[in-house]
Amino acid sequence: MTDMQKKSFGTMLSPIRAGQHMLRNRVIMGSMHTRLETEPDSIARQIAFYAERARGEAAILVTGGFAPNAEGMFDPEGPRIDDPEDARSLRPICEAVQAEGSLICAQLLHAGRYAKIEGCVAPSPIRAPINRFVPREMTDADIRRTIEDFAKAAENAQAAGFDGVEIMGSEGYLINEFTVTHTNKRDDEWGGSAENRHRFPVEIVRAVRERCGSDFLVIYRISAADLVEGGAPAEEIADLARKIEAAGADILNTGIGWHEARVPTIAYQVPRGAGRQAAANVKAAVSIPVVASNRINTPEIAEDILASGEADMISMARPFLADPHFVKKTREGRADEINTCIACNQACLDFIFSDRPVGCLVNPRAGRETEFRDSPTESPKKVAVVGGGAAGMATASEAAMLGHDVTLFEAQDKLGGQLNLAQAAPGKDEFNETLRYYGGQLQKHGVKLRLGQRAGSDDLTDFDHVVISTGVTPRIPDLPGVDHPSVATYAEILSGNRAAGDTVVVMGAGGIGHDVAEFLVTEPAETHNTDAFCETWGVDPQFTTSGALAGDPLAPKPSRRKVVMLQRKTSKAGAGLGVSTGWILRNALRKHGVEALGGVVYDRIDDAGLHIVMDGEPKIIAADTIVLCTGQEPERALAEELIAQGVTVTMIGGAKEAAELDALRAIDEGVRLAQSL
Ligand code: NAP
Ligand code: SF4
Repeated sequence: MTDMQKKSFGTMLSPIRAGQHMLRNRVIMGSMHTRLETEPDSIARQIAFYAERARGEAAILVTGGFAPNAEGMFDPEGPRIDDPEDARSLRPICEAVQAEGSLICAQLLHAGRYAKIEGCVAPSPIRAPINRFVPREMTDADIRRTIEDFAKAAENAQAAGFDGVEIMGSEGYLINEFTVTHTNKRDDEWGGSAENRHRFPVEIVRAVRERCGSDFLVIYRISAADLVEGGAPAEEIADLARKIEAAGADILNTGIGWHEARVPTIAYQVPRGAGRQAAANVKAAVSIPVVASNRINTPEIAEDILASGEADMISMARPFLADPHFVKKTREGRADEINTCIACNQACLDFIFSDRPVGCLVNPRAGRETEFRDSPTESPKKVAVVGGGAAGMATASEAAMLGHDVTLFEAQDKLGGQLNLAQAAPGKDEFNETLRYYGGQLQKHGVKLRLGQRAGSDDLTDFDHVVISTGVTPRIPDLPGVDHPSVATYAEILSGNRAAGDTVVVMGAGGIGHDVAEFLVTEPAETHNTDAFCETWGVDPQFTTSGALAGDPLAPKPSRRKVVMLQRKTSKAGAGLGVSTGWILRNALRKHGVEALGGVVYDRIDDAGLHIVMDGEPKIIAADTIVLCTGQEPERALAEELIAQGVTVTMIGGAKEAAELDALRAIDEGVRLAQSL
């Protein structure tokens, strides 16, 4: 029995009463935009998506946000629930979830000034920094009609078979815009005093409760920390929580941080459970169940928060993309088999922001459940997989799970390949969970592991199928002096085989250049310890001040190293980084004093440093260490040898195409290849 199996998760797995319902455990699958609503076969895909998570035993599933009216739509394609007929088409989704023993609640979300539509509305006509549309100020009649729209939307959800609704009052959407002075400059009965600013959410909750009766579950998602200037202080949040309880809510879910906040709230740089104190502040004010959320991704952290009394329930969203069976595996003593969300945002939020349906880097099935099969193959094959990085591990474990006889060769004495390097970047040690997961899957499904064995063509004669996932090697640019002792590859630095000096030049400002620069200037505590994280980003660790801020989130945070990052392109450094994490990386580097220079021509390296030409002027950048983050080349020597011998091979991951290789493509290719064997 592993350590994780021995642990008790008794609080998390215990039932809890909420309103008229006895919930089977204390875990909610939090709301996520899925964009499945606008896909072909939308209802079938949503049934598959939600039913799989209900089979995984979350007590309540909250859907992505439905706008209660046209002005509240997130974007022109966003889902609405203002038409009873349309709402009824969702009934099969509700029935599929309920058949598996979970409750399902529709989230009612009015996007307010975040709505990416002409004619968006807000309490005051102040444009959001993350939206180009300026909102129209709502009239008194607009406000009263919108309250009625929420009530009708809840009624539509109830008629469609939902067990309840979650009223979205956090993250800076319309309701939250009413509650704080940051966005509410009104001087009528909906603005000014806290009493007035709170009137809109309170009236919505009251109207929904009156319209839908006492059996209908009403969850209100309160902003437990706005993380914007002019946000609410803790006592105002507690006051609102009490009013929401009195107005008839059954559960208070918590949200941390507005979308425009300059403090990271859910990305991998945020320590696990960093917002727990904010939930505890709300819990102290009310007697209905309070839910903690944000960067809770393992049963251990969930149990710790619950057992310590800081919250009554836990909401996890992305962890249910990574592993729909999070709760079931925990209940069955298989917590060590959970595929953990690593908070990368690469296939969930970044897909949504680029108009693609939600996915997951560590679980290619997420949002695409109907494209994969789990049933064993009818024609088992003998499969060799060469290279135990992300692509190879994914191929081998999936193929073995489907019943193939798989041998995995890895030249190193441990699995992981590039993941072993990636996990050195601040917060990316979450990749250790991916390594733990795949290590367990390979063992569980009987993959024969050949660690420390560089496979040659002679080792591969006895297989029906040979998969080459030999990965990449760092690209060494053709530059005079590149063999100077000051030069190191990113692999040497991130693996710890070479230490960097106090002044460093990072050549290449792609994803790895940014990771290396962040690695060089960040103290490990900033991503593992909530107090250190709060200090870096100007957050009040007690979450009591206005907006829970204690300083400027972008204030400089000096580093002991001087780092300059260079690229030849003239475009903004890091322009290709993920939408939802790139801004954090860029701000973190700026805060830590990293200088980013573009439009650079490299000339040579010698004892004086890196010689460059910028704006036609020759310059020398002195450096103790020059780190090459200049891309990668595919490692194909074995593949070419096998092909020359007439052996049929399938190349995947970096071996197939080094450009823009990341774990997302590697795992997806691996799993899909195994499915097709
Ligand atoms: P990358 O993003 O393509 O960046 C490579 C960098 O090297 C570029 O800045 C390029 O910029 C420079 N370069 C390329 N060839 C060069 C040469 N011959 N001489 C000098 N400079 C050269 O690749 P990466 O940083 O190696 O990352 C690999 C993959 O992992 C990418 O898909 C990346 O998106 C992903 N990744 C993402 C993240 C993240 O989003 N946080 C983190 C790590 C990795 P110039 O040509 O302008 O100089
Ligand atoms: Fe978590 Fe990354 Fe998957 Fe999103 S893509 S659910 S952040 S592992």
